[in-house]
Amino acid sequence: MKIKMQNEKSCFGMLLVTVAFLVLTPYLSLAQFLVEKIQNNGNDDNRMVWVIMGDGYTSLQLDDFHQNVDNIIDKIFNTSPWSSYKNFINVYRIDVISNESGADHPSSSRYVNTALDATFDTYGISRLLTVDDSKAFDVASEVPSFDAVMVLVNDQQYGGSGGATIAFSNHEKAGLIALHEIGHLIGDLADEYETPYPGYPEGDSEPNVTYQTEYEHIKWKNWIEGSTPLPTPEDNDYGTGLYEGARYRSEGIYRPNHNCIMRSLGVPYCPICSEALVLSLYNYVDLIDSQIPNLTNLFLSADLNTIQFRIELVDPSSDTVGMGWEIDGTVQQNENSNTLTVDMGTITKGAHKVTFLAADFTSLVRNDPHGVLLSSRSWNLEKELASGVISGTVVNAITHQGIEGIIIAGGGEVYSTKTGADGSFALSPVREGTYDITTGSERYSSASRSDVAVADGKVTTVDISLEPLFTTYSISGNIFGSGNEGITIELKKGDAIVLSAITDVEGNYFFNGVESGFYIVFPALGGHNSIPQRYELEVDDRDLNNINFEVLTVPCPAEVLLNEQPSSLNLLRNFRDSVLSKNTLGKNYTTLYYEHAAEVASLIKTQEDIKVKAAELLMELIPTIAMRIDRQEMVFGEGIRGRINALISQVERYASPPLKEALTIIKRDMRSKKVLSQLGVISQ
Ligand SMILES: [Zn+2]
Repeated sequence: MKIKMQNEKSCFGMLLVTVAFLVLTPYLSLAQFLVEKIQNNGNDDNRMVWVIMGDGYTSLQLDDFHQNVDNIIDKIFNTSPWSSYKNFINVYRIDVISNESGADHPSSSRYVNTALDATFDTYGISRLLTVDDSKAFDVASEVPSFDAVMVLVNDQQYGGSGGATIAFSNHEKAGLIALHEIGHLIGDLADEYETPYPGYPEGDSEPNVTYQTEYEHIKWKNWIEGSTPLPTPEDNDYGTGLYEGARYRSEGIYRPNHNCIMRSLGVPYCPICSEALVLSLYNYVDLIDSQIPNLTNLFLSADLNTIQFRIELVDPSSDTVGMGWEIDGTVQQNENSNTLTVDMGTITKGAHKVTFLAADFTSLVRNDPHGVLLSSRSWNLEKELASGVISGTVVNAITHQGIEGIIIAGGGEVYSTKTGADGSFALSPVREGTYDITTGSERYSSASRSDVAVADGKVTTVDISLEPLFTTYSISGNIFGSGNEGITIELKKGDAIVLSAITDVEGNYFFNGVESGFYIVFPALGGHNSIPQRYELEVDDRDLNNINFEVLTVPCPAEVLLNEQPSSLNLLRNFRDSVLSKNTLGKNYTTLYYEHAAEVASLIKTQEDIKVKAAELLMELIPTIAMRIDRQEMVFGEGIRGRINALISQVERYASPPLKEALTIIKRDMRSKKVLSQLGVISQ
């Protein structure tokens, strides 16, 4: 028997009952209930959870209650479809103690005090056995995850009901009554019998009844064979068809089968009722119970070799589940298993999707409009992106020297970089693939390479030689003598520096890419003396080698004169570095001095009269030089000018033509007040 809310008044009545219950029966909320999980098939989160409790059992009758429950549960799970889906259901038993045994029988004025107020004769129907649903739910809340509540009433009169909870008596057919009432509770099934129930609302919303007689409109048409007459006569069992009479009416409404437990106790669920129960179970239970990895977005490093995916299923007892795996929508062969191992070497870089699909192909279901018998899980994989490298050099095809320029790799992506001064380059990271590489420089022909393959984690080497657009030559040589490493050698064209090189540890230097023309090779020796100081040369149609220089450290004239007066020598050096070097004219004089120093020093050593005159001049000059270092002006009096002229005249007698030329310049400058004032000299 199925109880339906009939109108708002009933709802209001129920509300009153609930309020009355809350106010009047505080003892229930204080009671301790012994809860035992008597059927445990896994975590309640993904199982349908049944709670079964007793009413009308006294404290001395709990053993009976346990025995009765065992028998009923046994009966249920030995009946299809429950026998196939036992794994989908967990069952809790709750001991509820009543003060008195049995249930109320208002028609015979027998009343007992029970915990859940079980009573026959509900709505005046003797076998309609109900309990106080609110109280039953309150007890059931001992199991927070409960989905269905069943109450076994300790009374042997035949009776039961199925609504928000189900109740059934401890009749000898209690198991069968339970199966029928569970049909209402879980499958939302209608009663299929025809016994009138005055006032019961019209309708055919339940899965096992219909008003429709056209094949196309019958909700269980998938189960009806083409030859079956519709409506189906009762005289012969045609199997599933369209049998008139159900839901408390003998006409105008149809049921799927000749008979069914929803019509008479003791027969199986008809296929349509059974299907409805399986579909309902799948509303509580996902075929997939758990998954590994639990995270669904996975970032996988390039060095990972394999990854395993694993699914745990809630298996029906019968072998009806099929499963499979897909990678990027492609079905994986031979993977009818709950695990999949992916060899990372077989999948490319970037995004992928791994999907597991399972379906219950049970013959108990033919119509699954919402696909509840299917389940799937997907993982999004991101395999680490490109890390390939293209490196190499770009060199002059003739001299093999590096060339600075731009190098570009184009393919699925475009990468570019500049080569260094030595021609080397590296493009990184580069996505796996093939590329065309081009390079060029304004002084060289351009070059390209096609189909250069780049693989992850690998370095692809590309060396390119470029033909110079202009014919060029090289100049090389050596600086020998003391201190010949690290000297800057300049290649000049007029005053412009075209190239510069630095001597290596052996004093070697090298210029390449030199176009034909006139050049000066000039070692920037600073304070050193060198012989010779420069080479003037012409580059025409050949390389020039052995342009060598000798570095000689020669004593300067002042050192020869003042070798026993280091303080005076230091004063002169200070004058050179702090005064002359700050002044163009002073620098010119310093250069002139060093150009001829070797010759003058040699004259001082060999000509005693020159040595004497030079020494006398220096002695007289030193005080005024000291004044100049102190930022005062030098005063050249008659005596100093006389000594300068006398020394110059003496030197001229022995001097080489270049030195004579220099002395002429000095004599001329000594007469120019303008030049002297530039040097900070006042001539008196
Ligand atoms: Zn049925």
